[in-house]
Amino acid sequence: MFNLILFGPPGSGKGTQSEKLIEKYGLMHLATGNILREEIANKTALGLSAKGFMDRGELVPDEVVIGMIRSAIENNPGIRGFLFDGFPRTVAQSVALDNLLAEKDAQIDLVLALQVSEDELIDRLINRGKTSGRTDDVNENIIRARIGEYENKTSPVAGHYSKSDKVVKVKGEGSIDDIFNQLTKEIDHKQN
Ligand code: ADP
Repeated sequence: MFNLILFGPPGSGKGTQSEKLIEKYGLMHLATGNILREEIANKTALGLSAKGFMDRGELVPDEVVIGMIRSAIENNPGIRGFLFDGFPRTVAQSVALDNLLAEKDAQIDLVLALQVSEDELIDRLINRGKTSGRTDDVNENIIRARIGEYENKTSPVAGHYSKSDKVVKVKGEGSIDDIFNQLTKEIDHKQN
């Protein structure tokens, strides 16, 4: 298996690049934000329990998202690999993920960390909010809350994977294709 984490703050382009990467490498895309929004749209109990946190720009509790990832991994045996997008977002989620993969004799092979300045992130998210229909992209205070959650709780995830030398930083500003080429260069380097 080849398992990749696409890491970075809200608005860093993880979703855009993930779509291109899964196609090129035949990976399964696991984006916890997308799964949570589907649960909300389907009005499931899980969705209802997550909605308040998401609307406030806070992280959903670890148990909820870890459970979602556990089912996805268990329901997809024999897969070539996963691309994790928006997960893990806390060190506890990273430890849980490492354990789930170890049960399948697998591991995280590479963490690609997109680097984007805070001003650029806020501009991108406000712009996305004009068309995405995402309520958490409309209000600047909610956007700042999400960036705050990222700095406090999520950025330590990079430290967790740096210990095993798995993190590579990639510039997340520039054209979509240039960024994609940088990402594929790192993946190809790792796989060969
Ligand atoms: P973005 O990267 O733009 O913030 P996401 O779709 O990844 O967008 O996440 C939207 C929201 O979903 C987050 O603000 C958070 O409330 C929730 N969420 C998504 N993934 C996780 C996770 N791994 N742990 C906790 N909360 C999550």
